Amino acid sequence: MKYCQDCGTILKGRTDKKFCDDHCRSHYNNAVNRDRDTNFKQINHILKKNTSILEKLVHKGIKTTTFHLLSATGFNFSFFTHQLYEQNEETCICCYDYGYKKINEEELIIKQVSHSLHNNENKYSDH
Ligand SMILES: [Zn+2]
Repeated sequence: MKYCQDCGTILKGRTDKKFCDDHCRSHYNNAVNRDRDTNFKQINHILKKNTSILEKLVHKGIKTTTFHLLSATGFNFSFFTHQLYEQNEETCICCYDYGYKKINEEELIIKQVSHSLHNNENKYSDH
């Protein structure tokens, strides 16, 4: 027995059917898109918040901080946009134009990063 993925009605006829009709199909797809948009927004919100926390500190001239202090300001370490690698260096974890590097288990270097989005050179410079 197969059921409509949107309304749950038992489907008759072709076994490859997933929906009663076009109405159920579009209703279902709209809901999927809405969920995805909500997800994008939530993650973007976290990334923007992370970025603005780093931005404020860097603009104040602060170059090092701790995991604890960043967490206390609401920084979410689970979310970042990308990572930059440099030989013999700790990986720089970035949130858009700002990033941090681990010094040890507690301390971090924070910095503005510049990089090219057009190749894989992964270069970044100190500011
Ligand atoms: Zn249906």
